[in-house]
Amino acid sequence: MAAGADGPWKERPDRSTIEKLNESEEPMAEDLNPHSIARTQYDNTLPYVDSLVGWKGMAEWLFAPEKIVTVTLPVVMDDGLVHTFQGYRVIHNTGRGPGKGGIRFHPSVAEDEVKALATWMTWKCALAGIPFGGAKGGITCDPSKLSLDEKRHLTRRFIAALGDNIGPHTDVPAPDMYTDAQTMGWIYDTYSMMHHGTNSLPVVTGKPLDLGGIVGRSTATARGVYFCTERFLASGRLPKMTTIAGARVAIQGFGNAGRHAATIFRDAGAVIVGVSDTSGSALAPKGLDVAKVGAHKDSTGRVVGAPGTTSGSPLKVLEAECDILIPAAMENQITMENADRIKAALISEAANGPTTPGADVILADRGITVMPDILANAGGVVVSYFEWVQNLQNEEWDEKRVDDSLRKHIYRSTDAVMARYDEMVANLPMYQARWQEMRPGAPALRHPDYRIAAAVVAVGRAKATAEARGVWP
Ligand code: NAD
Repeated sequence: MAAGADGPWKERPDRSTIEKLNESEEPMAEDLNPHSIARTQYDNTLPYVDSLVGWKGMAEWLFAPEKIVTVTLPVVMDDGLVHTFQGYRVIHNTGRGPGKGGIRFHPSVAEDEVKALATWMTWKCALAGIPFGGAKGGITCDPSKLSLDEKRHLTRRFIAALGDNIGPHTDVPAPDMYTDAQTMGWIYDTYSMMHHGTNSLPVVTGKPLDLGGIVGRSTATARGVYFCTERFLASGRLPKMTTIAGARVAIQGFGNAGRHAATIFRDAGAVIVGVSDTSGSALAPKGLDVAKVGAHKDSTGRVVGAPGTTSGSPLKVLEAECDILIPAAMENQITMENADRIKAALISEAANGPTTPGADVILADRGITVMPDILANAGGVVVSYFEWVQNLQNEEWDEKRVDDSLRKHIYRSTDAVMARYDEMVANLPMYQARWQEMRPGAPALRHPDYRIAAAVVAVGRAKATAEARGVWP
């Protein structure tokens, strides 16, 4: 196998973060920078992506974000004072189509977080087989302290500041943490006011139904998690659990992804043993009443204290006795610190980046399987794609068409990941030998997991597209 002596590897550190952590005499703090984590995950794919090394610098190009836009957003607050916010939009890669990715309002929003989330979107869209690249956006703010008016002003100012960095054929935002259909409606309206006389509906997805939105978008992420989990279990890879019915499920996060997941998994016969939000965990080992917890959340703003549950810290739900754990909150929740205490047999990631690379190693050692974010939570972006098609064609899809098409997409990508995983495991000695030849002295490859397999499928597709297009000019 060609060694590619002057390939992209040489700029990279020789060893992965995990290896360094293992070798260190002093316990090192785990690197929780999302962009470093995205890089570690990307590096893990490279030994398996054929010929990536053959094109000089290709690996660096595929990882680098195409465009980073930072905007300053002054907003007149309700008290009459001007508050200045920072907004970001990162387009990671548009090789396979326009940028696609949510907009998040959260205090933790920072350039590296948005870069990581945009990178994961590139891999997610490629894996789902939809014609989009990856993008993400966010505003650093505490949405719990914003009035509706302030949120609307902030959203409009952000979209005006981004100008033609977004557009139906350049970059198409969607909802993410603490943004919703209403926020998407304001985004559409702002963009539309700046582009009179054109069909601007496809500029943003996740819109209200009365504004070109698609039926099933709000439940799509959770439904995708369900379809992925169902397909994986039906494959018989976890002999003790072949269906969702009867499984005990714990869910971290009770927003769009987590709350719908609780309902959908319950409807499929699962027992929901715990949910959580920022207020804490609501636990019930014998099963909680999802409707009652939802009603409590609606009236009090928190899941803690819901009838029939006991309370714990926000992270407690991750350690609940359960069969399936669904992290549906945010990044870096399952880390080297708590991975030893996870009791689930299967983790289906509704959130983006909930598990760190260090935790992945611990979970694998403990025989815990992970359905990774770019596979398990792709339902949202897949139905966003349907909404975009619906808007471009001035059509209206019905619920059955959306659900059947979503199931088909998620089953197909889950099958592709399982097949690639099997191939990587079967040919591990060959990949090992090839890697050693390319990088003499490199540590042995660790046994593949489904996260690496999913990223290998995705990066392989992004690479094939880049090769087919060539490097401009
Ligand atoms: P959301 O704003 O609707 O809900 C977030 C939930 O997480 C809230 O219940 C909040 O209380 C909870 N939460 C936040 N921090 C927490 C913590 N530290 N501990 C416990 N709970 C916490 O957001 P969402 O749209 O449901 O997004 C959740 C995750 O799913 C994010 O990682 C997001 O990127 C991912 N995701 C969302 C979509 C989508 O379509 N909305 C699609 C794919 C992935």
